[in-house]
Amino acid sequence: MQGLMQDWPLLCHRVIDHAAIQHGNREVVSRSIEGPIHRTNYRDIRKRALKVAQRLEKDGIKLGDRVATLAWNTWRHLETWYGITGIGAVYHTINPRLFPDQITYIVNHAEDRLMFLDTTFVPLMEKLQDKLTIQRYVILTDRAHMPQTRLRNAVAYEEWIDEVNGDFTWASFDENAACGMCYTSGTTGNPKGVVYSHRSNVLHSLMALTPDAFDLSVQDTIMPVVPFFHANGWTIAFSAPMAGCRLILPGMKLDGVSIYELLEGERVTMTAAVPTIWLMLLNHMETNNLKLSTLRRVLIGGSACPRAMIEKFEKNYGVTVAHAWGMTEMNPIGSICAIKPDYDAKDVEAILDVKAKQGAAPFSVEMKIVDDSEKELPWDGKTFGRLKVKGVAVAKAYFKGEGGSILDENGFFDTGDVATIDPYGNLQITDRSKDVIKSGGEWISSIDLENLAVGHPKVMEAAVIGVRHPKWDERPLLIIIPKKGESPTREEILGYMEGKIAKWWMPDDVVFVEEIPHTATGKVLRREVRARLT
Ligand code: ADP
Repeated sequence: MQGLMQDWPLLCHRVIDHAAIQHGNREVVSRSIEGPIHRTNYRDIRKRALKVAQRLEKDGIKLGDRVATLAWNTWRHLETWYGITGIGAVYHTINPRLFPDQITYIVNHAEDRLMFLDTTFVPLMEKLQDKLTIQRYVILTDRAHMPQTRLRNAVAYEEWIDEVNGDFTWASFDENAACGMCYTSGTTGNPKGVVYSHRSNVLHSLMALTPDAFDLSVQDTIMPVVPFFHANGWTIAFSAPMAGCRLILPGMKLDGVSIYELLEGERVTMTAAVPTIWLMLLNHMETNNLKLSTLRRVLIGGSACPRAMIEKFEKNYGVTVAHAWGMTEMNPIGSICAIKPDYDAKDVEAILDVKAKQGAAPFSVEMKIVDDSEKELPWDGKTFGRLKVKGVAVAKAYFKGEGGSILDENGFFDTGDVATIDPYGNLQITDRSKDVIKSGGEWISSIDLENLAVGHPKVMEAAVIGVRHPKWDERPLLIIIPKKGESPTREEILGYMEGKIAKWWMPDDVVFVEEIPHTATGKVLRREVRARLT
């Protein structure tokens, strides 16, 4: 017997329709690439997205075609997402911090036909265009700010959308159709394309709204500092309009001063980004003795959030931290930390210990940890194993079948992370499996050591790598960037760590540096650190 409810495909354009009808006046505020703050609302975003859709069709873009975006978070970028998906084409976000060769590879692999780009990326694309599949470049600006360019069929976005009247109806198609695309950073082999569907985006964004996840309501003002090009922009381009939140888009200025200015000036209540961004903000606020008056929640993921960072946000600024783990292949959220009633976490310190974990799977994600023979390991908070996941918004294959079959016989995807899961279902990431330090047949977590080291008041940032050792196979080496004006000694740092970790986890040495290289998504680039120091 079938249910007798209506068939209402979960298509992304329904999100902006809903926002325009129910929350039409709600503001979308951007720091424009040109400089000034720009204000619009969901009603106008929808109107202009319809023009984008209509204009794309005029340029011959069809269902399933890939359209690249190389842009920071602004209202125009948001409009392109809805315009592209509204005709069943596929937005392909490109991280501008990738090497030019990687950009060339992924554009051609995706066979992108048209690209929307910010003015700042025009010189880069001029250098690459002869090698690319792209037939037209739409530059996200108006006629007045349009740069002189020899990009193929280049046009200013505002002029381009003004060539149509917006009298257009969204296309209709299957909810499993491709919607967006994002390439993994490809630390091993070539980058691989993850293809989100309309269904996975809608279901995932609904999940993201729930109280133990983003906790969003119509009362909120959310600022995704995480760029749209990082792992599907953590779904905020959909979840914010779904909930009818005011949306603040920070453009290209992601330094502490600019972020603070928007957090306070626009009365932001919820924000999201990787730890390196928050490091800059916290430094700026500490140096200038500033406070946060409206922010209540900050979502931190992409790399492990040190306990010391959670402590600062919560104790010094009264902001709740939601520590999340995820990956491009997961749409991207896999877990978020909430203090379940099962914990006997009565005091602040015990709560902070739990919050340093990456949290529990929300509904729609299943997880398990396994050993090398695929045997499931216990959820005791101590045993670590390879983390595998399954769910409505987890990849089942890469674009063009790259890398072959990626699921095990039970349909689980191997995340490449090593983790423990505690009896209440909260996971803690130990490392990427390739980064765990194997010492004397046991594993040492570089993440745990880094998190401990940044708790020292003179430490700005820390990285840990494994270095070859004749007896123990590998031993940890700690690399430190001291805070401005501080010069901690090796003994001070190791003394601080003593007693907080097992003796054999203690780094063999400490190296002080001025800079630690990061990947395009703000992770410590261990390969590069290793190459520089060993
Ligand atoms: P990229 O590889 O392009 O940076 P992803 O965002 O997909 O893109 O990276 C996913 C990986 O980032 C995860 O598999 C995990 O190793 C790491 N990661 C993400 N969030 C966390 C977190 N909260 N703690 C520790 N590691 C994290």
